Amino acid sequence: MTDIIPEAGVTARDSRYDILFEPVQLGPVRAKNRFFQVPHCNGMGYRDPTAQAAMRNIKAEGGWAVVCTEQVEIHPSSDITPFIELRLWDDGDLPALARIADAIHVGGALAGIELAHNGMNAPNLSSREPPMGPAHLPVVTWSNDPVQARMMSASDIADLRRWHRLAVRRALAVGYDVVYVYAGHNLSMFHHFLSRRYNQRSDSYGGSVANRARLLAEVLEDTREECAGRAAVACRLTIDERVGDVGITPAEAAEVICLLDHLPDIWDLVLGSWELDSATSRFAAEAEREPLIAGLKRLSVKPVVGVGRFTSPDTMVRQVRAGVLDMIGAARPSIADPFLPAKIQAGRLDDIRECIGCNICISGDMTMSPIRCTQNPAMGEEWRRGWHPERIRSRGSDASVLIVGAGPAGLEAARALGQRGYPVMLAEATRELGGRVLREASLPGLATWRRVADYRIGQLRRHYRNVDISLESEIEPADALGHGFTDILVTTGAWWRKDGVGRWHASAIPVADEASVLTPDNLLTSDHPLLRPGTVAQRILVFDDDHYYLGGVLAELLARFGHEVRLVTPAPLVSSWTAHTLEIGDIQRRVHKAGITVDTSRVLVAVGAGEARTACVYTGSETSVPVDAVLLVTARLPRDGLFLALQQRQDEWPARGVRSVTCVGDAWAPTTIAGAVWAGRRYAEEMDAPGPASRDRIYRREYTALDSLA
Ligand code: ADP
Ligand code: SF4
Repeated sequence: MTDIIPEAGVTARDSRYDILFEPVQLGPVRAKNRFFQVPHCNGMGYRDPTAQAAMRNIKAEGGWAVVCTEQVEIHPSSDITPFIELRLWDDGDLPALARIADAIHVGGALAGIELAHNGMNAPNLSSREPPMGPAHLPVVTWSNDPVQARMMSASDIADLRRWHRLAVRRALAVGYDVVYVYAGHNLSMFHHFLSRRYNQRSDSYGGSVANRARLLAEVLEDTREECAGRAAVACRLTIDERVGDVGITPAEAAEVICLLDHLPDIWDLVLGSWELDSATSRFAAEAEREPLIAGLKRLSVKPVVGVGRFTSPDTMVRQVRAGVLDMIGAARPSIADPFLPAKIQAGRLDDIRECIGCNICISGDMTMSPIRCTQNPAMGEEWRRGWHPERIRSRGSDASVLIVGAGPAGLEAARALGQRGYPVMLAEATRELGGRVLREASLPGLATWRRVADYRIGQLRRHYRNVDISLESEIEPADALGHGFTDILVTTGAWWRKDGVGRWHASAIPVADEASVLTPDNLLTSDHPLLRPGTVAQRILVFDDDHYYLGGVLAELLARFGHEVRLVTPAPLVSSWTAHTLEIGDIQRRVHKAGITVDTSRVLVAVGAGEARTACVYTGSETSVPVDAVLLVTARLPRDGLFLALQQRQDEWPARGVRSVTCVGDAWAPTTIAGAVWAGRRYAEEMDAPGPASRDRIYRREYTALDSLA
């Protein structure tokens, strides 16, 4: 078995990274190095605590000095249903929290807990408690729930402080080493008190910055008193809401830090909405907030942690040397590669699986499903299926595998089977490995997506000589059967439909013979005349019935080449699914700034010569718009011809020594890149696995313990 995990204690690191492995004192506790997995949601929370414990354990094993939970609701008045986070409402929640802390300790890290009262972000849909906040205002939730927060009285404030104290006490009882007071992201009560947007009080908790920070100061004092030298107190603070003077500004954050610097043992500085703090790579570069944090850090004598989607150790070193950060905070880079610190430690920088900044991980939390990651298919599967981001079972048979198609599914299957030690041939029709990843990475803002292919190609080239790669090899059924492989995996991808069928249309849209109709494949797979410098500007209608990123990105691309673009979608917003990746606001801004005309709640119903007809999704009323071409982004069809042909020739398999032919990824059912990578990994994981066939295998779940009916 090839194992790329560095051996414990082995240090082959470049001395220029030594600074990253210096210990940092956080009040009473000592972090063994500067790598800090900041709190991050994961869609598992109270429903899947053991799965979460295994996930956090693996982060600790990967070398992070501090590994934190996500936000932990401290009271039923902080119930953010439908989202699934951890809870610490009473002692009944302690076993789950203890299991997570223990798992982190077993991995060798300090365990951090992010206690949270979500204030106006808690609609309390499950607990039915009236929401609370600094003022009588509607709750601030993604779904604009039709309930209001009640302005807290002095006795409400006293209760809140008591609940927070109790939560700290309970967290300490189960062994947490770092206890957070959460004042970040527009998701917490203390943020709401700090922000003039929400704090309209005229008592001693409203008005000046000192008054608005009073509640935070009191809770920090309470927490410090409870911790009493047994655990570090961390304060996660919003440093900019980016809404101008009505919200928290960097100048106000500076005042808060100066006022309260004696209270926490570490500051965790964040931007003022989750969307801002976890922007995708399409909208924010690595380390983009460096100047802002650098200025604030100079005001504090305490260690500072911050994030910036750091994947480059050189950037991390620069942050420390330049006095921007004391600890390198990471949520997404630790999800994409839980072993990032260990790999730097072992001098194996080429093995780092860099986050691509796509926020599929966040979509787990946003859709109340366990976290998944485009780059790390083992994320969320550590306990459920027993997958590990670095280790995999050795080969269990004499199988040899032909993989046809080197997109994300084929590449990951080849990499993981290669790691298991199987002889593999990866055949790709084109000149390059990567499939859709390469094509889509050429689109505006998506260049980092190439890392999905680059990581896997790098691993294959460096570590797995048992995997042969054959480029420009378009495999026909006879070739597949004639190569002497025992198992054939078809990962040949999918094509975009050209008939407009998708979510809205069940049958083809009428198209005039003279009309020019394109699909994304036309623009992505060839040097298309519309995308050449100096091309004659055309009027192009993009019909987006897919709702993820592609329609919006292609509209942006066409606008960049000077075309007059109109985007038509039945959804109320462009790329509406990207609400789950937190990009939806940035996308609307980008599309409008690019001068694209946006017709929401409308569908394309017919394409004529020089015109297209669109209809309102509610009334059906039709309009004609002049167009030169139409781009249909509606649905895909599996490119499964090879697979179907091989199935038809099943009677030939025994004579050719073929035992199985399997199809996964987009060729089986078009999916996300994350879905294709996962499918490739699953094939490799389950090859020769004892037990039932893939589809009959139920992953591990935690069952609800039944209470008495009476
Ligand atoms: P997925 O997302 O499922 O991995 P992609 O569409 O990204 O799928 O990749 C499919 C890859 O398969 C493409 O690079 C394509 O060129 C390749 N391919 C398709 N048909 C064949 C074939 N018959 N022989 C070899 N390669 C193929
Ligand atoms: Fe990074 Fe995307 Fe993985 Fe999230 S899902 S950690 S953004 S690669």
